[in-house]
Amino acid sequence: MKTLADLIFDNRFARLGDDFSTSVMPEPIDEPRLVVASPSAMALLDLDPAEADSEVFAKLFSGNTLWSDAEPRAMVYSGHQFGSYNPRLGDGRGLLLGEVRNDAGEHWDLHLKGAGMTPYSRMGDGRAVLRSSIREFLASEHLHALGIPSSRALCVTGSSTPVWREKQETAAMVLRVAPSHVRFGHFEYFYYTRQHEQLKRLGEHVLASHFPGCLAEDEPWLAMFREVVERNAELIARWQAYGFCHGVMNTDNMSILGITFDYGPYAFLDDFDANHICNHSDDAGRYSFSNQVPIAQWNLAALAQALTPYIDVEPLRDSLALFLPLYQAHYLDLMRKRLGFTLAEEGDDALIQRLLQLMQQGGAVDYTLFFRHLGEQPAEAAVRHVRDDFVDLPAFDAWAADYCARSAREPGSADARRQRMHAVNPLYVLRNYLAQQAIEAAEQGDDAPVRELHRVLSQPFTEQPGMEKYAQRPPEWGKHLEISCSS
Ligand code: AMP
Ligand code: MG
Repeated sequence: MKTLADLIFDNRFARLGDDFSTSVMPEPIDEPRLVVASPSAMALLDLDPAEADSEVFAKLFSGNTLWSDAEPRAMVYSGHQFGSYNPRLGDGRGLLLGEVRNDAGEHWDLHLKGAGMTPYSRMGDGRAVLRSSIREFLASEHLHALGIPSSRALCVTGSSTPVWREKQETAAMVLRVAPSHVRFGHFEYFYYTRQHEQLKRLGEHVLASHFPGCLAEDEPWLAMFREVVERNAELIARWQAYGFCHGVMNTDNMSILGITFDYGPYAFLDDFDANHICNHSDDAGRYSFSNQVPIAQWNLAALAQALTPYIDVEPLRDSLALFLPLYQAHYLDLMRKRLGFTLAEEGDDALIQRLLQLMQQGGAVDYTLFFRHLGEQPAEAAVRHVRDDFVDLPAFDAWAADYCARSAREPGSADARRQRMHAVNPLYVLRNYLAQQAIEAAEQGDDAPVRELHRVLSQPFTEQPGMEKYAQRPPEWGKHLEISCSS
């Protein structure tokens, strides 16, 4: 176990030089306080969890002090925002502090979001507010616990520094940890500015650092693109299976590693609604829940375009065509597990589609609790438990009869089945209203609710005594919360 002072830096991205990022010092926030830390994210760096209590911890992660080996840089990228190309984005308020090499030899980016102005701040103030920092922290760690690949969050520090959004708020910083912060938009930037030499260096960096297996292939770049397609197909399948809406799937928010990245006005579905739009500035519903699948493919096509100087168009097209079938296979696999099926049967897909149609008819089918209750045994009792939430009861009864018959063909005891289903169907999920309540307490200086929510959501599949309030259906007001897009 290490102390903060023991961390070893090896800043590979910084060494790419000034065409890729700009050296910028963090601008400290005042009276920093640690709001919440994640022991499991600290473990990625071999950090002793007790380090979170040290005085230097909040100072480091609020820009008030820095390791001598850190090399803070703002990265340049561009991207397609709501379908339109924006030629210059970049880290407008976040800094890559450096890359830490842990004892296992893994590199982890430390990225401090809310660290002040950079050459890419455009009209922004370089800051992040407490509310959005807590939301990013909670989601990063919860998605990871659900088995959904995500950038991680090590901590949130709050401050007394005022920040103006719709009203006066306070500045905060969130320390993100990920193997890389390279986005699709990094490749687009060098492609559209015709800096093909830099595009090549970026690709070689990403290949060597993050896709070393592809280097042995005949066409490493193509192999890398194919792997990006595969990882995204699996990622989006997990989002759809667990009811996660990202909300801002711009290509600058898409990680080259296929991890969930850049959290904004995201939401987990409460009542199931395939057309749910969690981003209130998304008038056309471009990033609605069900659109996440075609949009991911659209984003991969935008990445493919940026790779055309180094990969032929035909193989790029062929690789892109793998996305949908791969997505469908992963999704079917995940949903089978959620329904308690270990065997693969022909009619499973149709059974799943019928279920989603029944949920879509309205009523009050809480997407998370439905699957949790379905894990009760026997199946006949489980379907009775969830029945009243559906509108078309005769149709539901027909589905339930087919489901029970299908379940009866599964091997194993009722106990094993309950355990198997509870291990993939969370009891606790990060509902917007839960985050909102914890945020309001933190805004009043009480961080205990954020810490408790984080603890509960880090073990979403395990029933935790005394934590029943986090496993309830949302109150009516909680279902219709408008999450501010300003952050
Ligand atoms: P986001 O919507 O958070 O993905 O950000 C899109 C772009 O706007 C990125 O280039 C961000 O760095 C930049 N940005 C967002 N908020 C701010 C801010 N308050 N100050 C400076 N840049 C910002
Ligand atoms: Mg972003």
